[in-house]
Amino acid sequence: MIKYFNEMSQGNKILVGMILGFIVGLILNLFVSDPFIKNVVLIDNVFYLGGTLFIRLMKMLVVPLVFFSIAVGVASISDVKKIGTIGGRTIFIYILTTIVAVTIALFIGSLIQPGAGLNLTYTGQTSNITANQTITDTIVNIIPENPFASLANGDMLSVIIFALLIGIILAKLKSELPVVESFFTQGNKIMMEMTNIVMKFAPIGVFCLMGKTFGGLGLDGLLPLGKYIICVLIGLAIQAFMVYPSLMILFTRLNPIRFFKRFYMVMLFAFSSSTSNATIPLNLEKLEEMGVSRDVSSFTIPLGATINMDGTAIMQGVAVMFAAQAYGMDLGTTALLTVVITAVMASIGTAGVPSVGLVTLTMVFNSVGLPVEAIGMIFGIDHILDMFRTAVNITGDAICTIIVSFKNKSLDVNIFNGKKQPDIQEHVKFPEL
Ligand code: ASP
Repeated sequence: MIKYFNEMSQGNKILVGMILGFIVGLILNLFVSDPFIKNVVLIDNVFYLGGTLFIRLMKMLVVPLVFFSIAVGVASISDVKKIGTIGGRTIFIYILTTIVAVTIALFIGSLIQPGAGLNLTYTGQTSNITANQTITDTIVNIIPENPFASLANGDMLSVIIFALLIGIILAKLKSELPVVESFFTQGNKIMMEMTNIVMKFAPIGVFCLMGKTFGGLGLDGLLPLGKYIICVLIGLAIQAFMVYPSLMILFTRLNPIRFFKRFYMVMLFAFSSSTSNATIPLNLEKLEEMGVSRDVSSFTIPLGATINMDGTAIMQGVAVMFAAQAYGMDLGTTALLTVVITAVMASIGTAGVPSVGLVTLTMVFNSVGLPVEAIGMIFGIDHILDMFRTAVNITGDAICTIIVSFKNKSLDVNIFNGKKQPDIQEHVKFPEL
């Protein structure tokens, strides 16, 4: 049995942890009447300890992970200026689609109210931005007075701005600063590895968090979780099958059905692997078969796999609403605006590998003072949602690539429409991310 468990994929282990935690929690809630064993020993100590330690490990990762990942990501797109219009258009569409994605998610979250009725209470401190802060304050606070204090306090927007600036300067002065450049690249590697290690504890952490939640709530916790999943799936479906096709028609007048008929394979691959990065080769190949020149796609697809995560942004938007409702916190306009900005930044800072969207979700929560503990509830089912959202993430990259190459006259419309066969040659190696 243990051997079988050890051989499972990480995602399945987390799922097992979640199901076991759920079952144990329910048994505790429904059948154990001794309050000492149930509440004092298990819920408030054993599960609390296991769950909180894991959440702290996750929190520990956020600032350095986002800092290094954004600096390295921006530094690596030094060609943006050279590529000129392609770079500008691509980044514009990537950011635009992500803003649309978060907005849809916030809207669905406020409509369906996945967290309503959970009535959780939070006793810890909430952080910097509250519903009362004005928009002007939020904008002013983005520029750190002291970037080191921002790093230490985890003021994410300031950290991101500082990392962006470092990335831009590194991109410019790369050749003069090889040591600093490799410091950042290696720092990024270390943080990715640390994330992997922390994720190894996820099955235990999730078990404890689920046990604690369902031990306390019993069956009442099920409905909100189900609603949360439905909200995310609806958001993803709207983005993939309404927003993207509309953009495609608007900008290129090409037929989106033709696109999906050929592209669904890449979506399936992303779905089963939960990683945008691993999908890059297949994405490039399929787009070439649709008549997209590699001149454009070899730049836009790896960039998109790194900075464009619309599916992830949708999950984060819904998660924010879920947690705010669960803890009875009213998010005002400023807080919602902050969520949109931070989720776009989080999308840039999320690496295209499994589960990282959850780590950067803590930064979105922090930005509006939501308790990170709420992530514990959605952690267990995240593996499944990760599969769906990764499929949407890479679809966004491909749609943007089609639009940009169409505008740039690097798309052969006859090939796209099936009137001509693509002339596929041996490819140059694409950059590894
Ligand atoms: N798995 C996602 C991707 O690779 C990232 C995430 O949302 O965790 O695109």
